[in-house]
Amino acid sequence: MTGGSKIKLAVLLLSLIFQNAFAQNTGIYLPQQMRKLYNGNTRTWEGKPGKDYWVNKTDYKIKIDLDTVTARIKGSETITFYNNSPDDLDKIVVQLFNNIFRKGNQRDFEIAEEDITDGVKINKLIAGGKEMNLEEEIRYTSTNMIISNLPDAVVEHGKSIELYFEWETELPKISQVRMGKYADGVIFAAYFYPKVAVYDDVFGWDELEYSGDQEFYSDFGNYEVEITLPGNYLVWATGELQNPEEQLNENIYKKYKEAIESDTVINIVTKDDLINKTVTNNKETNTWKFVAENVPDFSFSCSDHYLWDGVSTLADESTGRKVFLEAAYGEGAKFYEEAALYGKRTVEYFSTELPGVPFPYPKFTLFNNMFYGGGMETPMMANDGEYSYKSGFVTLIIHEMAHTYFPFLTGVNERRYSWMDEGWASFFPGEMAGKYFEDYNHHKGYLDYYRIYGILGTEDDLPLITPTHTARGNSLIILSYARAFFAEHALQDLLGEDLFKKCLKEYINRWTGKHPLPYDFFFTFNDVAGEDLSWFWKPWYYEFGECDYALEKSQSGEIKLIKKGNLPLTVEVKLKYEDDSEEIVSSNTRIWQNADEVLIKTNSSKKIKSAEILTNKIPDFELSNNFLNF
Ligand SMILES: [Zn+2]
Repeated sequence: MTGGSKIKLAVLLLSLIFQNAFAQNTGIYLPQQMRKLYNGNTRTWEGKPGKDYWVNKTDYKIKIDLDTVTARIKGSETITFYNNSPDDLDKIVVQLFNNIFRKGNQRDFEIAEEDITDGVKINKLIAGGKEMNLEEEIRYTSTNMIISNLPDAVVEHGKSIELYFEWETELPKISQVRMGKYADGVIFAAYFYPKVAVYDDVFGWDELEYSGDQEFYSDFGNYEVEITLPGNYLVWATGELQNPEEQLNENIYKKYKEAIESDTVINIVTKDDLINKTVTNNKETNTWKFVAENVPDFSFSCSDHYLWDGVSTLADESTGRKVFLEAAYGEGAKFYEEAALYGKRTVEYFSTELPGVPFPYPKFTLFNNMFYGGGMETPMMANDGEYSYKSGFVTLIIHEMAHTYFPFLTGVNERRYSWMDEGWASFFPGEMAGKYFEDYNHHKGYLDYYRIYGILGTEDDLPLITPTHTARGNSLIILSYARAFFAEHALQDLLGEDLFKKCLKEYINRWTGKHPLPYDFFFTFNDVAGEDLSWFWKPWYYEFGECDYALEKSQSGEIKLIKKGNLPLTVEVKLKYEDDSEEIVSSNTRIWQNADEVLIKTNSSKKIKSAEILTNKIPDFELSNNFLNF
C-alpha cells in the first residue's frame, strides 16, 4: 500500500463516518429495510441513485381487436422483460388489473352487476419459447398471475425473456373505474392488458393486489400497439400515431398535419365533418398504429362522434423539441373547445416555470368522457370529466398533465406513496390557475377536502409516510391530496420559491426513469437546500397531529401567535387599525423550527383595533382562538 492510498483510505473512512453521522442525524425514521439500501449501493444518503442503482425494462408489442359495442377486447401481446437486477428471478409476476371486475374478486367498492365479468381471460402463454400449462404452471391471485417453472428455471440477471400472451377482456360500462365505456361511441381503455409488475431494489416483486383505491407502479419500456376497430372511429393513444394517412379522410389528414405544426388551435374534426361523415375513410375496420418510447403504461381512447382539436408548442428551447396537444370531446362538453389551448399553456408553464423541466412527451391527449368531474392520468393522456365552472376545467387539465412528472417521468410507487404524485399534481396548478382567474384561491379546494370529509383533528389524518395501501376511504384521500398539498406549500414557504424549485428540479432530474422513495425526496431536498430539514419532515410526514394556531395577548399587551398543533406552516395575521386600515403580517414556516410562539411585529405606529389569523390558506383546527380585540 502506498502513502497516497493511505491518505485516500483515510479520506474515504472520514467520508464514510461523515455520511453515517449525517444518516444518523437525519432525525427521521428509516425502517431497517430502507436503511439497508442507503448503506448499500443502490441509494445514497444525499438522495441520489447509488452507483449500482438499477431498474428493469419491459417492452410491449400489442395487437388489439376492439368490439366497440360490447367493449370487449381481444389481444395478442409480446413482452420482452429485461432483468437488470442483480438477482436471478425464478418467477415473473404479471398484473391483470382488469380482474378487478372478475366475479368473486376483492374490491374496495361496489361494482354494478352488469360489469362483473370473467376478468382477463388468458388463452395462451408462451414463456421463453415454452408453451405454459395455464392450469398447472401459473398461479393466480386476485389481480396477479405468477409464472414459475420458467424454461431455464430462472431469468438470470442481465438476461431477458420473451412472454407471448393471447387474452381477452371486457371494459366496464356502468362502473367505470378510471376508464371504461362511457356512452355509445365513447371509450377510454386502460389497465386492460397483461403487464409485468415492478421488481425493485426495495420490495422485490410488487405483488400488492389492485382492489380499486390504490393506483399503480410501473417500470418503463417501449410500446408498439395496433388497435383494430370499426372504420368510422377515431383513436387517440399513448404514443405517436404512425399511420394517420391510412385511415383519416384526406382533408382531415391535412388538418391533422397542419395542427402538428401550428401554434394556434386547429379544429381537425368539426361538427360539419361529423355530419358529412368525412372524418375517416369509413372502411369496415381500420388498424391504428402507435409507438411510445420509454413510458410506464399504455392507454387509448376512441369515438365515432367526437370533435378533435390540435395545436403544437415548444417544450424545449435548447433543442427546439415540440409537443402536440390534442383535445377529443363530444359536442357541448363545457369549455372543451378551449382544452387544447389550455393544454398548450400547461406544457409551456411546466417546461419553463414549475417545475421548469421540459415537458418530456411528444404529444398529449385531453379526452373528455362527458361525465361530471374528476379525471385520470395515463402517460400522454388524460381521461377527464366535465366541470360546470371554468377554474375546475382548467385546474383539472393542469392536474392530470402534472402527473407526467409524477408518477410517469419519475416512476413513483403510487401503491405505497400516493402523496408522492397526487401531492405534486395538486400543488402544480395553483400558481398557473392564478394567472387566469382573479382572486383565485387554489387552497380552498384542499381546505374543503379536510372539512367535508371531517378528517381535520381526527386520528384519520394520517402521517404522509403511512403506506398508501393500508389507508382507506376519506383518510386515503386526505393523505394523498390535501395533507401532501399543505406540506408542499409549507416547504415552499420555508425554502423560498427559488431554492424550492431548485430542489424540486434536481429531485426530478435525479429520479427520471427511476423509482424514488420518500427518503430520496427528503434527502435530495436536504442535500440541495444544504440543511437537514428533519424538523420539518417529522411533523408533516411522520407524526399524527394537526395544524392549530392561536392568538393571545402578552403581558405587555403585544400580540402572540402561538403554534398549538404540531404542523408548521406559514401563518398570516390580519391587523386592523383604528382608522380601519388593514395590514397582513406573515409568519414564515421557518419560524417554527425553534419556537412555538412569536410576537406579531408591525412598523405601523397606528393603534391596533383587532387581530385575526387568516384561515383561507391553512387547515386550522380550532377557529375560536384566532381573533383578538383591543
Ligand atoms: Zn391526480
